[in-house]
Amino acid sequence: MLKTLFLNPPSYEGFDGGAGSRYQARREIKSFWYPTWLAQPAAMVPGSRLVDAPARGLSLDDVLPMASDYELAVLHTSSPSFPADAKVAEALKARNPQLIVGFVGAHVAILPEISLKTSEAIDFVAGNEFEFTIKEIAEGKSFEEVDGISYRDGDRLVHNRPRAILEDMDQLPHVVDVYKRDLVTDDYFIGYLYHPYLSVYTGRGCKSRCTFCLWPQTIGGHRYRTRSVDHVVSEIAKAQEYFPHIKEYFFDDDTFTDDLPRAEAIARRLGEMGVTWSCNAKANVPYDTLKVLKDNGLRLFVVGYETGNQQILHNIKKGMRIDWARRFSADCHKLGIKIHGTFVLGLPGETRDTIKETMHFAKEVNPHTLQVSLAAAYPGTYLYDQAKQNGWLVDSDTGGQLVDGDGTQVSSISYPHLTQDEIFQAVADFYREFYFRPRKMFDMTSEMVRDWELLKRRLREGGEFFRFLGTRQKSA
Ligand code: SF4
Repeated sequence: MLKTLFLNPPSYEGFDGGAGSRYQARREIKSFWYPTWLAQPAAMVPGSRLVDAPARGLSLDDVLPMASDYELAVLHTSSPSFPADAKVAEALKARNPQLIVGFVGAHVAILPEISLKTSEAIDFVAGNEFEFTIKEIAEGKSFEEVDGISYRDGDRLVHNRPRAILEDMDQLPHVVDVYKRDLVTDDYFIGYLYHPYLSVYTGRGCKSRCTFCLWPQTIGGHRYRTRSVDHVVSEIAKAQEYFPHIKEYFFDDDTFTDDLPRAEAIARRLGEMGVTWSCNAKANVPYDTLKVLKDNGLRLFVVGYETGNQQILHNIKKGMRIDWARRFSADCHKLGIKIHGTFVLGLPGETRDTIKETMHFAKEVNPHTLQVSLAAAYPGTYLYDQAKQNGWLVDSDTGGQLVDGDGTQVSSISYPHLTQDEIFQAVADFYREFYFRPRKMFDMTSEMVRDWELLKRRLREGGEFFRFLGTRQKSA
């Protein structure tokens, strides 16, 4: 077995670009997802080590000495961080020329050839379902024998046949063993989750076909392939034993509620264990299921509302109706399920009026907290091709820019009737309009007064948030 390092490489300071982040960027407030995509293969390679440089605050100088201790390094990359990650690969290779360097992640799965051509330090890139691919390489199989990779053979680039789709998801290992071995749970913050939290995936893929959404169109697919209820519950039981201080578990599947009977079955088991948990959901869960989930420990849903305009929902193929979202939100409020609502500005069909309509809608459905993002055209998505064909992609010559020089998200889309600057500015206006309302400020203050830990945390996050708004003001 090759001595293997799994590395979330250092890039921008505070960059939440790890092997668990859907849209990689430096956030308004400090935020890190667990590097679950790397933890999965790491759990299959005995003696390996997973290093999450951004979350640990490690620089290139900190990780470079590790190059000499390993024979194989597997780096997780993303579209925004790829140029920086390639430089890390070059530095590791310069330190240890014998080191085999492989890249994984949606970016290289979609663009294997361009990725390999970018840097000779990258020996191979792995496509989808890469856990068993990496295991086989770590076991010493030659590149020709391994499905699911593209690699360099002298001057030639070779593309092996794709890896078969994993159907029996219980073959995936429990990642909490790797979390325990290699990670520090306190490093991981998400503004709307209790701290410390812990997240895992219980399945892969999403049934919906939203045109902007990265993972289902690139690495997950449109079938929700799931681990069995027992496999999930036994991992949470193990995590409770390993990490008694964890306050909340998060199921970070694209849409945990895509299979309602299974979601209810998992909930009932978690309810018996007294677990507080949260998950990603689509705004179409019926009241009876909501009640079962809430009665069994569900605290919060992350809900992608995206927009308050029905035509934009059609344009992005969300398969959602504004009135369903209204009813779902009312049901959650009634049952006491908190919602972190996510919205995207600049999707096809956006105008100044639809931005106002979405702001109004957000205040109406009134999620507990919200996140407003800029439409991001990632290679491999329908939106990317659409934006390119229609001339909406900013910096289209370079494939579209997703973040600026310090890793903060920038508008990658601009329309003749709505410029990238207007979309960018609207994000800060949206936050102000939503949070600086007497009702919202009263609710948030009351919540903080009742919870000392929350108060301390909100004060820190508040400072970061105001700095973010200030930066937007300056750059407007
Ligand atoms: S429902 Fe959510 S996870 Fe599924 S494709 Fe749409 S945005 Fe992506």
